[in-house]
Amino acid sequence: MSVMVGFAGFPFTRFTEREALEEAANGLRERGLSAVELSFSRCRLYVNPKSQGLMYPSLAQAEEAKMAFEGIMIGVHAPYTLVISSPSSKRRRLAKAHFTMNFKLGEALLANHLTFHCGPAGENAEEHVKEFLREIMKVREEHGYVTMPAPEVAGKKGSFASFETTVRIAGEVGCLICWDIAHDYARGGLITTRDGILRRLELLDDHIQLKGYRMPVHISGVVATRRGEKKHVPLARGGVPWMFFLSVLREQNYLGKVILLCEAKVSGGVRGRLDEAASILKFLQSDKKVESYRDKTKIDGFFM
Ligand SMILES: [Zn+2]
Repeated sequence: MSVMVGFAGFPFTRFTEREALEEAANGLRERGLSAVELSFSRCRLYVNPKSQGLMYPSLAQAEEAKMAFEGIMIGVHAPYTLVISSPSSKRRRLAKAHFTMNFKLGEALLANHLTFHCGPAGENAEEHVKEFLREIMKVREEHGYVTMPAPEVAGKKGSFASFETTVRIAGEVGCLICWDIAHDYARGGLITTRDGILRRLELLDDHIQLKGYRMPVHISGVVATRRGEKKHVPLARGGVPWMFFLSVLREQNYLGKVILLCEAKVSGGVRGRLDEAASILKFLQSDKKVESYRDKTKIDGFFM
């Protein structure tokens, strides 16, 4: 069973140079890492010359990236501006156009998954999200796109949705989820206890059909407030029990079902992010096992 570790949040736009992609790919290989999530987070479909918006990469660039990352599993991340939890037909039309673009690029990249945020947890958010996901799953099927949508567990309590809700909806619709454990932790999810993590794995097994895909898992440190996630920080900060979490996944033979993507905010550019991701792999390769999450003070300290 292969363990896949890499990093998330590598920006990919029309202005990304081929050399930058190659540098990231080589950096992954040098560290024994085998996954990356390319982010279209700042990409726009139409760019007004006066705006700061960036264009998506072209299909030719995506094909180049596919070659640069040969042997490395790729995922993609849609822009943060997407909202699918709202009833506004304008927003939904725009989101749909973004999904089509993401699917096409995902196809060229042979991307495993497409991570995205659902949006604010407003009135009837669940219905809107479900309906939207059903539509795009139909689009996906009609065109035979390979990439599987993966709505992300939200970090802010005012955002849609918690781990449980995201898993249930994804199960109904037939897609993956992106399990961001820092988000889950920041909104008070029970990933600090063994029972809590086991219950989550059970829910995943009951609801999500992997269909040959791997489920993306985002790992980082986080600073949280009463309202949930405030910002991502290095792994060592913020009390996210990532080593404990990984110990349970390893023990449950779960590592072959996921892609572990480090999303920690660190300094040092791409090299810093690669090194941070490598610490996840190093932990898994070591005999170290964290049996429980004892650091209660840390949790309280971060929930201000
Ligand atoms: Zn994330």
